[in-house]
Amino acid sequence: MELITILNRCHHFRGFVYHHARFTTDKKSIEISVRPRKGSAAICSRCHRSAPGYDQLPERRFEFIPLWGFFVFLLYAMRRVDCRRCAAVVVEEVPWADGKRSLTKAYMLFLARWARRLSWKETAQAFRTSWEKVFDAVEHVVTWGLEHRTLGQIDAIGVDEIQYAKGHKYLTLVYQIDIGITRLLWVGKERTVQSFQGFFTTMGQEVISKIAFICSDMWEPYLKLIREKCSEALHILDRFHIVAKMNKALDDVRADEARRMKREGRDPVLHKSRWLLLRRSENLGIEQHFRLRDLLRYNLRTVRAYLLKEAFQQLWTYNSPAWAGKFLDEWCRQTMRSRIEPMKKIARSLRQHRELILNYFRAQKLISSGVVEGLNNKAKVTMRKSYGFRTYRVLELALYHSLGKLPEPESTHDFF
Ligand SMILES: [Zn+2]
Repeated sequence: MELITILNRCHHFRGFVYHHARFTTDKKSIEISVRPRKGSAAICSRCHRSAPGYDQLPERRFEFIPLWGFFVFLLYAMRRVDCRRCAAVVVEEVPWADGKRSLTKAYMLFLARWARRLSWKETAQAFRTSWEKVFDAVEHVVTWGLEHRTLGQIDAIGVDEIQYAKGHKYLTLVYQIDIGITRLLWVGKERTVQSFQGFFTTMGQEVISKIAFICSDMWEPYLKLIREKCSEALHILDRFHIVAKMNKALDDVRADEARRMKREGRDPVLHKSRWLLLRRSENLGIEQHFRLRDLLRYNLRTVRAYLLKEAFQQLWTYNSPAWAGKFLDEWCRQTMRSRIEPMKKIARSLRQHRELILNYFRAQKLISSGVVEGLNNKAKVTMRKSYGFRTYRVLELALYHSLGKLPEPESTHDFF
C-alpha cells in the first residue's frame, strides 16, 4: 500500500491530487507534492468563490501529522486568482490550511487536542515541534471554536477572578453554571468595570437579558455592572468567597496575637495552630481535635474569632430567607461587640451586602457557588500547565481551550 493511497483515504480534497511522495535527502522527512486537479478552478480566499487563475507562487511546505518518526510535509504552489468580484488579485484558498500558518489544519487539531491533556511544552516535546507551533495550533482551534459556538439560553452565570502574575494582575472569568452545562464563557483582562463590560458586549443583549441568576464575589466593579446590566436577574453573593474572607480575617487575628504573645514572652500556645483553626472542625483528625479542644480553653482573641467563624456556618443550614436574615443580623450584632477589628470589618461588609447574601436562600440554594469554585480551580491548573510565556494571550487561549467546551473544526478523518 502506498502512502498516497492512505492519504487519499484520510485527507482527500476535491480539486486537488497527491502527486508524488519522497524522502528528503536527510531521510528525516517525507514530502508529498500536491497539485490542482486538471480543470478545477482555484477558489478566491476573500469571497470563497471560484475565480480565473492569474499566476502561481513558489512552492510552500505545509506540515502534516508525523508518521512513524518521520516529519511529513505537503508541498504545494499556491495559485493566485484574478477575482472580478473582489476586483483584486488574491491568493487561493486551500482546504487543508488556514491563511499564512505553516501547519495543516489536521495537524493543528491533532496538536491542540494533545495540548489539552499535556502542557504545551510537553506537547511540543512529544511531537518534536516548537512551543510556538503548539500555540499556533491552539489559537487556530480556539478561534474557530469561538466563532462557531452556540450560546443558546444561559440561565445562570458565575463571575470570578484569578491572579495570574505577581503585582496584582487579575483575569476576570465568567462561567455558565446551569444544571446541564458548565463552561467558561468569557475571559477578560483585569477586573475593572471597563474590562468586565467586554463580557456584556461579547454576549449581546439578547443572551444577557435572559440570565436569571448571577453568582459573584463582593468585588465592587462586578456588583456595579451586574446591577446595571442584569437588573432582572437574582444576584447571589458567592458563599465560598464569604467563607474565604472570614478565614482570612481569623488568620490575621491569629498571626497578630501570636506575634504579640511572643513579644510579651508568654507561652506560645498559638504555635502551629493555623490549620487547626482554618479547617472545618469536622475535618480534623483525632489528635488535632484534642489539640483544638486544649486551645479553645484559653481566653484569647483568636479563640473568640474562631468561635464566631464556626457559629457563622449555621447560616447555610437555613432554608427560609427570613430566618437566615434573622440569624445573619444576630451574628453581625454579636460580632460588632467583639472588639476584634478584622471580624468587625467582616460583619460590616456582610451587613452592607445583606440582600445579596440572602438571595442565596431566595434562589432556593439551587445555585451552588461550589461549581464556580470547581471551575476556578480547573482554571488555575490550566494556567500552570500552559505557561512558557505567561502573557495574557496565552492564558486566554489556554483557558478557552480547556474550559470553554468549544466545538472543534471539522476534520476529514479522526487522526486520534
Ligand atoms: Zn473574490
